[in-house]
Amino acid sequence: MSHAPIPRFTAVAPLRAEVSGWRRAGERVVLVPTMGALHAGHLALMARAKEVGQRVVASIFVNPTQFGPNEDFSRYPRDTATDLSLLAQAGVDAAYLPEVSGMYPEHFSTRIEVDGLTEGLCGAYRPGHFSGVATVVTKLLNQVQPDIALFGEKDFQQLLVIRRAVRDLDLPVEIQGVPTLREVDGLALSSRNRYLDADERARAPHLQAVLARIGEGLAAGGHAGPLLAEGRAALKAAGFDPVQYLEIRDAETLAPVERATRPVRVLAAAYLGRTRLIDNVPANPAGLA
Ligand code: AMP
Repeated sequence: MSHAPIPRFTAVAPLRAEVSGWRRAGERVVLVPTMGALHAGHLALMARAKEVGQRVVASIFVNPTQFGPNEDFSRYPRDTATDLSLLAQAGVDAAYLPEVSGMYPEHFSTRIEVDGLTEGLCGAYRPGHFSGVATVVTKLLNQVQPDIALFGEKDFQQLLVIRRAVRDLDLPVEIQGVPTLREVDGLALSSRNRYLDADERARAPHLQAVLARIGEGLAAGGHAGPLLAEGRAALKAAGFDPVQYLEIRDAETLAPVERATRPVRVLAAAYLGRTRLIDNVPANPAGLA
């Protein structure tokens, strides 16, 4: 089925005019920020956006400031034509594709730093990453002025960092998290999965399996120490090297925890060959839904 092309915006003013018209008409506007190379996980966010609001704006912006000097910014997959047609099929009302020069004009000098939450996990291995994310998301929220913005639990630390920045800065928007969409074998969908060769792709689901096993152990009253040691060994055996982190954290504060007496999250980042994969799963104390 062919779809009408999706309205596409590069500049802030015309997009804001469109959004403010919708809001004046009483329509709730939902923003879904992405870096493109869209997959079914992104489309699950678009589908949720259509459920929680009447108008959906998807942004596509590969944000240079959230990539480190040795990371994959230049080889990050970009396929705007396919992305736009997927967004049209998903019934998204507008695509926002800002340019780097518009987002970061000459003498750009302001950054959002979220302390504490950004110190461990990915923050420890990607210096400056969450500052880049918090800054660009704050800008996107100010540019688009949606009622609601959706983010995936796939990037769990990112979701908490954004929630905190929005609360601390009194940004007038509601942040909602969306559960991770997975392949049938458990692998979390990610734009970076396309970097995996056939052998790596076959090993990749071990990441989720190890996290799930730790989650079950915690729900059964297990302790972090032995569960994490066993999980680390299982990841190594599956070919993950290095395992940057495998941790159990409080689901709200990200404080390290020894047992699941409150809702917790089991999180990991590990390399398969050149590809860095991240994933996380929830674990609740026994008796808590
Ligand atoms: P990205 O394009 O990787 O920056 O992702 C854009 C948004 O999609 C972020 O909020 C991600 O957390 C979310 N996302 C990415 N992968 C998935 C997935 N497998 N399931 C749900 N949300 C996802």
